[in-house]
Amino acid sequence: MKNKSPVILVIEDNPGTLGVLFNLLNDAGFEVLVARDGEKALEIAEEGSPDLILLDVMLSGIDGFEICRRLKDLEMTRELPVIFMTALTKTGDKVKGFELGAVDYITKPFDPEEVLVRVKTHLTIQQLQRDLLEKNEALEASLERERELNALKSRFVSIASHELRAPLSKILLSKGLLHRYCRKLPESDRIQDMQRELESIVRAVSQMTATLDEVLTITKSEAGKITFSPSMIDLTALCRNLVEEFDAMAPETHSVLFSNSEKPIYTRADPKLLETVLSNLLANAIKYSPQGGTVLCDLVLKEGTILLSVKDEGIGIAEEDQVYLFEAFYRGENAEKIEGSGLGLSIVKQFVELHSGAIKVESEINKGATFTILLPCRQ
Ligand code: ADP
Repeated sequence: MKNKSPVILVIEDNPGTLGVLFNLLNDAGFEVLVARDGEKALEIAEEGSPDLILLDVMLSGIDGFEICRRLKDLEMTRELPVIFMTALTKTGDKVKGFELGAVDYITKPFDPEEVLVRVKTHLTIQQLQRDLLEKNEALEASLERERELNALKSRFVSIASHELRAPLSKILLSKGLLHRYCRKLPESDRIQDMQRELESIVRAVSQMTATLDEVLTITKSEAGKITFSPSMIDLTALCRNLVEEFDAMAPETHSVLFSNSEKPIYTRADPKLLETVLSNLLANAIKYSPQGGTVLCDLVLKEGTILLSVKDEGIGIAEEDQVYLFEAFYRGENAEKIEGSGLGLSIVKQFVELHSGAIKVESEINKGATFTILLPCRQ
């Protein structure tokens, strides 16, 4: 039952009976609404949201049966329990009342105790039904979520196995070549060839490991199992360090630069998740831009919002791809020849959303892309 007093709507045109019922129910702690004719009754039933209705069969104008029929027709009032009030002798009325959807009846003249017991019983039943319905809905929702997760997992497994096939065949091929060289040793001067094949194996293994890591992360994230541990961090330092690491890793191919406002930006955030976010964006910016390109990471605080962007001068993203980029496994049409799983950005989006932030992309094909993360600054 709601915390406030249950509301009973009494529909009765006899002022004497109405007064008796009003006092009885009021004294028992109920909030009582009254209607003396059918029209008013339907109006109050819709607007006053009663929990139960006591309805006199013998009303002038629209009679009790018609009111009951209309109440059961309306979405808003269909579930309201209706108790009929009828004369002791009118058995036919009781049957008709039940047929129309009433839950019970009381006979006139009333026994006050009986009225209260019946009213309370049906309010309890009504509440139990509501609870059951709510629990059912919650159960349905979690079943639906479970079904979605299962579908997603199957998709992950099939796509991940597909992604793993290419590096695995590379490994097999390299292994075959190495085997052939080894047979020719020691006179062979093919050490360099062997090294190349070994490197190819190492690359293929790293690619598989990265794909598996991403699949694991996204599965965990989809299942709501990523631990979000915010603490007060120096975001400027975090970004600068990461940018410097990327710049050091790609010294010949790309310049990775960092620019930020003078004052360091402190905020409450999860440093591990934000490192993953920025690493993904920087790695993509390098991966999808030609050698010699500049990648610029910019960090500013504007009216309480942190804007962290990564801009490159690479292949860019077609407009029709931009909407889907953050979906798991989605890859742009111009990215086919560049290795990738299509999982990074969907992980990024989920981690940003854990911070109540958002991510957007601006890009023009062959001109470059800018990914911007907007985070609320929390201090
Ligand atoms: P992956 O790079 O492994 O394919 P992501 O989820 O990180 O997966 O990116 C999804 C797609 O978005 C990429 O396949 C690519 O088409 C596009 N993309 C992401 N970053 C860039 C970028 N900086 N420049 C151009 N395209 C990008």
